[in-house]
Amino acid sequence: MNSINIKRRGLMLILSAPSGTGKTTLANYVIENDSHISLSISCTTRKKRPNEIDGVHYYFINYDEFKKRIENEEFLEYAEIFGEFYGTPKKQVLKKLDKGEDVLFDIDWQGHRQLSAIARADVTSVFLLPPSKKELLERLELRNQDKPKTIEQRMLRSDEEISHWHEYDYIIINRDLDHSIEKLMSILRSERLRKERRIGLNDFVGTLIHEKFVKSKVI
Ligand code: 5GP
Repeated sequence: MNSINIKRRGLMLILSAPSGTGKTTLANYVIENDSHISLSISCTTRKKRPNEIDGVHYYFINYDEFKKRIENEEFLEYAEIFGEFYGTPKKQVLKKLDKGEDVLFDIDWQGHRQLSAIARADVTSVFLLPPSKKELLERLELRNQDKPKTIEQRMLRSDEEISHWHEYDYIIINRDLDHSIEKLMSILRSERLRKERRIGLNDFVGTLIHEKFVKSKVI
């Protein structure tokens, strides 16, 4: 049987969560296990962590360069977080969406708001909640990436981030990683099937309707 491949628009899957919720693990799973979606790599002015690679996790640039790119309108959105700047480069994202490829965004609520304002029809957003504050703190301490002062800053900011949960399309409480992965993949699979995104449907149905049925035969 021929598989029917209907042309569709790429979608923008936004994943937001307070740090320590497991967002990066989930995002990595999606990218590694689904060949039709790739990560939007942001630019940031914050310092590179020892395990991070420039051009893979972020493009690490200085403040002057960031400012220049804002002025040149090179970002789809940008925000100031923990006193540093983070922004989504426009070019790479638009190129992928035009080709019908999906893009995953690991960005905060400010970025979600901005992308929704300019491309609501293309956006599907998921907010990840921790099961409790206690677990959030334990995860931040366990990953051993931040100084105690930064951990405290991240915990304080988690309330602000969480307060925007209702602006998102879907909420996942990340109690169990496997269950959360299953939920996120279900969301992605369903959202890809929305008729608004399947721009090839018009042609398909047009052809379908014009197929003639005569004397028990389709001709
Ligand atoms: P981190 O410094 O821990 O990598 O990221 C801090 C926060 O910045 C996270 O909540 C992350 O989702 C957010 N973030 C990363 N890149 C972007 C971006 O390009 N735009 C916005 N608005 N937020 C971002």
